[in-house]
Amino acid sequence: MRARLVTGNWKMHGNLAANLQLLTALRSSLKVVEGVGYAVCVPFPYLAQVSAVLAGTPVAWGAQNVSEHDSGAYTGEVSGAMLAEFGCRFVIVGHSERRGLYAEDDRRVAAKFLAAQRAGLTPILCVGETLEQRERGRTESVVSTQLDAVIAVAGASALGRACLAYEPVWAIGTGRNATPQQAQEMHTFIRARIAAHDKGRAQQLTIMYGGSVKPGNAGELFAMPDVDGGLIGGASLAAEDFLAICSAARR
Ligand code: PEP
Repeated sequence: MRARLVTGNWKMHGNLAANLQLLTALRSSLKVVEGVGYAVCVPFPYLAQVSAVLAGTPVAWGAQNVSEHDSGAYTGEVSGAMLAEFGCRFVIVGHSERRGLYAEDDRRVAAKFLAAQRAGLTPILCVGETLEQRERGRTESVVSTQLDAVIAVAGASALGRACLAYEPVWAIGTGRNATPQQAQEMHTFIRARIAAHDKGRAQQLTIMYGGSVKPGNAGELFAMPDVDGGLIGGASLAAEDFLAICSAARR
């Protein structure tokens, strides 16, 4: 059976006091279910705090970005090896906010994916279309291009050491989630696209859905056969909401 994963993306939110409250609540109240993994991806400065509070718990942690370089004169960048030193298991690559606000193109995303794997991290590769692209009927071609860019440099077999997140850009932080049917349709499409390269890996690949997942809609989204959990932004900042979403990931 495919592993499920619920991952919080804190984005650029938090402070030491608020983080401690949130992490303590996760540590004490998370009800672990077999076959479901849990993680939080936090801003770089909080990795030490997160590793101190979550070490030894079922909640893994990760970062939201990584340099495509391993070391060198890259002011302001953070390498995969540095993230690994802080116990990160995951790193998000290709989030639409990185693609849109920081002009990360498919080539750079693919390079970051490779750098993450070189450091022993599991990349969470985000793909998804904008509203305009969906309305023009370009959803599948956009997502295919994003996927193919990574497969071209890393090979389909590299997806065996990665997770995917389908995140329609129009659903991120907007309160307007994809319907369960829209999510299922795209997850099926993504799995089929990968299956064309490697059927076995496609079947085993964890594909999360992200975009305005809340306690009220998580159950119906996670009930879809190809939706293997969620990448959760806003709702991962409130312990009660994130815990409820984690519970909704049980089969
Ligand atoms: C995200 O940041 O990846 C995300 C899905 O955000 P939200 O849940 O707030 O839409």
